Amino acid sequence: RAYNFCAGPAALPEDVLRQAASEMLDYHGRGLSVMEMSHRSDDYVAIAETAEQDLRDLLGISDDYAVLFLQGGASQQFAMVPMNLMGRDDVADYINTGQWSAKAIKEAKQFGKVNVAASSEATNFTTVPPQDTWQLSDNAAYLHYTPNETIGGVEYDFIPESRAPLVADLSSTILSRPLDVSKFGLIYAGAQKNIGPAGVCVVIVRKDLLERAGDQVPTMLRYKVHAENGSMYNTPPTYAWYLAGLVFKWLKAQGGLTAMEQLNRRKAEKLYGYIDASGFYSNPVEKHSRSWMNVPFVLADEQFDKPFLKEADAAGLLNLKGHRSVGGMRASIYNAVPEAAVDALIDFMKDFAQRHG
Ligand code: PLP
Repeated sequence: RAYNFCAGPAALPEDVLRQAASEMLDYHGRGLSVMEMSHRSDDYVAIAETAEQDLRDLLGISDDYAVLFLQGGASQQFAMVPMNLMGRDDVADYINTGQWSAKAIKEAKQFGKVNVAASSEATNFTTVPPQDTWQLSDNAAYLHYTPNETIGGVEYDFIPESRAPLVADLSSTILSRPLDVSKFGLIYAGAQKNIGPAGVCVVIVRKDLLERAGDQVPTMLRYKVHAENGSMYNTPPTYAWYLAGLVFKWLKAQGGLTAMEQLNRRKAEKLYGYIDASGFYSNPVEKHSRSWMNVPFVLADEQFDKPFLKEADAAGLLNLKGHRSVGGMRASIYNAVPEAAVDALIDFMKDFAQRHG
């Protein structure tokens, strides 16, 4: 297999894919695939409940929180969060650190007042605004931020302090290290980076917040409905949920999130370390706000972009092209991307720079 640096859908652990393949036609001797099971069957309910419990174990999620497995991706959460947590006359605080927070802000404006309490637009989104500069509202319904901007490769190295419930789009950094969930009102994360395949979105919501939604919120978009029905109000994305469960088991077998933190820190330090020292590649993000998961970089001259991508592809280093809106390169090095992939990428980058520098 090649090394896959895609931002999402992203690399999955090989062990997980192998196990899924071995269970594909005949799950545990039942004579059918998980894909073909009723979501109400004992077998599937056990798969779903085990996945939830393993996620709770990994992140230390208490019973004060509901854990939901929903469809619609993180993009649907941009709407569900304001629909459920604020009324028309309420204000919600948002921090703008790049393209994903901007999308969340745009969507929230359809449902209530939005106060952009801080923005790093002035630095072209290469920084996180320090919290002491934020203009928070007195009575915000919640404070929303994007701990890791997948496109810009910008990450908070702190959890904001907030009187209002803290809401986080953790799509591209969840499970990359331990997290104190008790600091949050609501966390959401599209699966297709560190959780599993596309098609499921995990929401972790403090139970008292389930009561906030007004009657006008459509049934399928109400957190409370999903919480009361174990995320099975309708047919859930059964196969994606099952694969997420396999990933959670794999994470536990790796030593949990503390082990992932050590590995991910090492991978990121190596790659940024090489980029900074190279004189040929560069990354614009201020050092303490650099993402551990998404590493954007540009080459000394744009004319090298095409040959770089072509040669990388031929060398089995896939999906290094930066987001279409920013160009350049981006190496996403999520949990399932092994350290050997980062080593191989650095070796390739060195060789390429030598030949073109
Ligand atoms: N938020 C962040 C931080 C993302 O990286 C993405 C997708 O890459 C999204 C939201 C949108 O997720 P989805 O495509 O699941 O709607």
